[in-house]
Amino acid sequence: MSILFKDRVAIPEIRGTKFDKSIYMKKHFLSSLIAGILLIGTMPVKAWGPTGHRVIGEIASFYLSPKAQLGIRAIIGNETLAMISNWPDLIRSDTTGQYKSTSPWHYLDFPGHCSHTEFESLLAAAHGENLYSQIEAMSKELKDPKTPAARKRFALSFLVHLLGDLHQPLHVGRDEDLGGNKIQVTWFDQPTNLHRVWDEHLIDFQQYSYTEYANILNRVATKADVKDIQAGRLQDWLWESHLLSDKVYDRTKNGDKLSYRYNYLFVDDLNAQLLKGGVRLAKVLNEIFK
Ligand SMILES: [Zn+2]
Repeated sequence: MSILFKDRVAIPEIRGTKFDKSIYMKKHFLSSLIAGILLIGTMPVKAWGPTGHRVIGEIASFYLSPKAQLGIRAIIGNETLAMISNWPDLIRSDTTGQYKSTSPWHYLDFPGHCSHTEFESLLAAAHGENLYSQIEAMSKELKDPKTPAARKRFALSFLVHLLGDLHQPLHVGRDEDLGGNKIQVTWFDQPTNLHRVWDEHLIDFQQYSYTEYANILNRVATKADVKDIQAGRLQDWLWESHLLSDKVYDRTKNGDKLSYRYNYLFVDDLNAQLLKGGVRLAKVLNEIFK
């Protein structure tokens, strides 16, 4: 169950190049380099676990336009969005190095409790490949009729996955603790970290299969909810997830023993994020396959 993916751990040089240095780079480079080296290879980290990504892919499939359904079928045949949603994590175990550059695509960090204005300027100044840039890049490749079939499949799989990561608040969390990876907690007495609680423990605790989960979340979403959720730009969705990460950080500290009460505190946020991820993924896909 615990697969040692290095989802959020990129080398500090890559992590440090995301924002304009004059705005963001205040931290001590050497200490973060050493901390980074110590963390790489020792920490179990990944993205929304397989269930979370599948739920989001499955929910999206309920809201696809006929054109989007056709466009997707042309790329993945009888496979579903849920089925291709975890591939970007699986390729972390590839040993050829061909996918190495995709490691920083899964997240984008911001300082805690930054203002909306500060957030927007940091986002605009973000450079290098990251969660934000790659959602846009994958959308562009899918729209381009000249993109080869194999690359379209790659882009679709990443798009489904990254729209999911965008809604895991700790993928839009803070750099200093690697999105909660350095915050050690227990989950029902099992040692883990905050990032993993959100990737999988909370989801697994609900004890639904991904199809059950997608169906129950979908049942309670009204047409008006869907319209509200789909409003706004990608930047607004990132901001919303980052705001949720502030709430998560405020309520979870290093050494916390998490169990029933934590689920009670956050299950509504968790469900809202999964629903939003799916419904917004559908919006992005419907726009691509117009
Ligand atoms: Zn990921």
